[in-house]
Amino acid sequence: MIDRVRGMRDILPEEASLWQALEGEIKRTFELYGYREIRPPLVELAELFSRTVGEATDIVHKEMYTFSDKKGQILALRPEATASVVRAAIGAGGGGDLQKFYYLGPMFRYEKPQAGRSRQFHQYGVEALGSLDPALDAEVIDLGWYLMERVGLGGTEILRLNSIGCAEDRARYRQALLSYFTPHAEELCPACRRRLGENPMRILDCREPKCQPVIQGAPRSVDYLCDACRDHFEAVQGYLRDLGLAYELDHTLVRGLDYYTRTVFELCSGELGAQDALLGGGRYDDLAELLGGAPTPGVGFAGGMERLVLARGHRSDEEAPELECFVVPVTEVAEVRRRAIQLLRTLRRAGLAADMDYMGRSLRKRLRVAGRRARYALILGPEELAQGGLRVRDLGPGVEKVVDLAQFQGDPKAFLA
Ligand code: AMP
Repeated sequence: MIDRVRGMRDILPEEASLWQALEGEIKRTFELYGYREIRPPLVELAELFSRTVGEATDIVHKEMYTFSDKKGQILALRPEATASVVRAAIGAGGGGDLQKFYYLGPMFRYEKPQAGRSRQFHQYGVEALGSLDPALDAEVIDLGWYLMERVGLGGTEILRLNSIGCAEDRARYRQALLSYFTPHAEELCPACRRRLGENPMRILDCREPKCQPVIQGAPRSVDYLCDACRDHFEAVQGYLRDLGLAYELDHTLVRGLDYYTRTVFELCSGELGAQDALLGGGRYDDLAELLGGAPTPGVGFAGGMERLVLARGHRSDEEAPELECFVVPVTEVAEVRRRAIQLLRTLRRAGLAADMDYMGRSLRKRLRVAGRRARYALILGPEELAQGGLRVRDLGPGVEKVVDLAQFQGDPKAFLA
């Protein structure tokens, strides 16, 4: 028996229906804010991510699924989609105007699997490209917040906010962190000692209890912002207040990806435990240039579908039967079966989800399957057929009526109240 790969899950039909409902809600919400869907490929040149997410990040350094193709190009399964969306937008032109994209789809990271963390996972996200307006940062955050409300998670979310400034601010901040952490190196975990040499900002992300006291005393990025970045951050906060969105300033929130500039944020669930980030994002004003494109500022977020499913769970009131109709021929008589097959075809072409038994079950078992899977059982027996009739049983209340089969086939929906 060949098993599935560690960290990769099957989403079976029972769960997939919840995914479909959530995906529908996500798309509708994104479209309310003027975003349009983009579907970038799952495979990209590995360099797309090493240049933008950053060579020294865990995502690129340790977690990327890379391979070479027959021409020797180094490719990667995408670990995230922002770089792809920006690449696509630059390639398609459209510069000069605001472009709003959303996406949904699988991402791949070779992480240690645990609850809410897998190696193939699914993200939904938005990217607004072309504007530096701080109102757009607030809009993107508001969109994430409203989305949580619409999927039934309103009231549990915590909005964490920070600004890491522009490239120059970050260079000064990096220096300050180096000066601060270097004398404390012995008090840090081994991973953070490595980060100290590569990217000391990443130390702030560390969740190791050992590192927390040192992190608490670290310099704060907001104290290293230039005037323009400080104004931007204050404007973002002003808009958030106008929109009535409560936020916490989190000076340790820097996000693990190199391409971020200025605003960074996370929406967390109060109910998820260690992996509590529902979605995270921020600005990435230099990303297009890192890819060789014209300067194109951007802001966006990405959220994890698996975490949404976990945080939200199943609701019993959403468990509608999968089918409208289950056709039940009461005998195996060839003529009855032929009529059943014709009736099925009519139902489906009338837009009604319908099925029948193909396992040779008894009548009693067929009706039981109908009760589990459908709202109506359409029962075809030789006596009814002899009189041109069809028995329609509403499986909720269990009431039955006999209707004219020819009329029913003319307009089945009219008979199913
Ligand atoms: P990131 O791209 O790392 O900022 O992640 C954005 C969001 O994607 C997180 O807030 C999570 O909801 C989700 N996410 C990231 N990595 C994983 C993973 N390995 N498994 C499941 N969800 C993930």
